[in-house]
Amino acid sequence: MSTAIVVGGGIGGLSAAIGLKRAGWQVTVLERSEESRPAGAGLTLAPNAVRALDWLGVGARLRSRGMSQGAAGLRAASGRWLLRVDLGELHSRFGASGYLLHRADVHALLTDSLHLDDVHAGHQVTRVDPKTATVTCQPATGGSRTMAADLVIAADGLHSPLRTQLFPQHPGPAYAGYLTWRGVVPADARAAIGLGDTVTESWGRGQRFGIVPLLDGRVYWFATLSAPPGSHTTEGIEGVARRFRQWHDPIPRLLAATPPEALLRHDIYSLETPLPSYVSGRVVLLGDAAHALTPDLGQGACQALEDAATLGGLAAQHGDVESVVDAYDRARRERTQRLVRASAQHGRIAQWSHPVAAAIRNSLVRLTSPSRYLRTVSETLSWSPDPAWPAPESR
Ligand SMILES: Cc1cc2nc3c(=O)[nH]c(=O)nc-3n(C[C@H](O)[C@H](O)[C@H](O)COP(=O)(O)OP(=O)(O)OC[C@H]3O[C@@H](n4cnc5c(N)ncnc54)[C@H](O)[C@@H]3O)c2cc1C
Repeated sequence: MSTAIVVGGGIGGLSAAIGLKRAGWQVTVLERSEESRPAGAGLTLAPNAVRALDWLGVGARLRSRGMSQGAAGLRAASGRWLLRVDLGELHSRFGASGYLLHRADVHALLTDSLHLDDVHAGHQVTRVDPKTATVTCQPATGGSRTMAADLVIAADGLHSPLRTQLFPQHPGPAYAGYLTWRGVVPADARAAIGLGDTVTESWGRGQRFGIVPLLDGRVYWFATLSAPPGSHTTEGIEGVARRFRQWHDPIPRLLAATPPEALLRHDIYSLETPLPSYVSGRVVLLGDAAHALTPDLGQGACQALEDAATLGGLAAQHGDVESVVDAYDRARRERTQRLVRASAQHGRIAQWSHPVAAAIRNSLVRLTSPSRYLRTVSETLSWSPDPAWPAPESR
């Protein structure tokens, strides 16, 4: 039986472990954090991610939570609609809906598909030897451990220490020029506000605000601001509310209903300089470690899920590790690096702050028909597992 060590227990690492286990491999996940529930707010899972989850055997549990419904679209800060599509359209066009969940729920869907012994929390990996697929880690309980396998999966996120070790010439992630605040409004406050199912992103000048009603009744929101990295670190929910007080309803009411302790703030980075390969010896990079995207297309976790299904599918198809990693690099690099560029470009335009440029941008979006918009995202959302991968149930 082939063996793998997955470094990182985020969405990428957990889903990679599920994919390889479905291919019959024995897998150990090493996660540095001792906390099994991740911090975070909402997460949108697009139809391509849902099909990846289907291949991973998690799709049915996702669907049992219901389907996200309603409209989705772009608005101006005044509330005027710029573009509107129906979420049901996604289902009819791409054969799967989009899902709007709390990140912790996505995490739970994945951990429920693994055994407790598969994931070792509180294990920080400090070194990997790509020739021998050996990792050195420091358990939180003390000491140092060395473990070896046939393959190591570096799923250690945006600031991946393993990427730095394996590709020392790579400059690392680049700042995208803006920061985000995120929050979650409780279900009773959503009911009091009278907010329905509509998912929106509203564009101002150097600022955006997104509203994502979650399947469980809560509301996830995100706000952006063009600013230098590391700025506004002490700004609380009142400060954020002041920045958006003139924006359309229900933005000020959502901010007023956000528990202050639920506020998250992050500078946005992406892996603007592409890696020359997602493979180094017997190590593959996956998820943000390989191709961190800005959140502008809502595709970072979706691409990590595609990576994981691909790795599992190829492991099921090929007998030897070398063929698996070569095929993985060929299957994933071009698509994900194209999306990294597209996402950064989308973010730059959406953050435009010059009044004339922002007005022209909004007018152009208003001229875009919903069907034209759906055609532009079709290539991203219609990804499917390769029919050549043996279906898990047939093995
Ligand atoms: C504001 C924001 C909003 C987003 N919204 C969306 C969205 O709506 N939809 C979407 O698809 N994507 C979204 N994304 C992107 C998405 O969050 C990421 O692409 C995704 O979480 C990447 O998963 P990952 O497992 O690769 O990395 P991570 O989630 O970062 O996981 C990496 C894991 O590795 C662990 N680790 C790191 N170093 C070590 C080590 N040395 N040893 C052991 N463990 C280690 C970390 O503790 C962590 O648990 C968003 C991102 C941001 C910033």
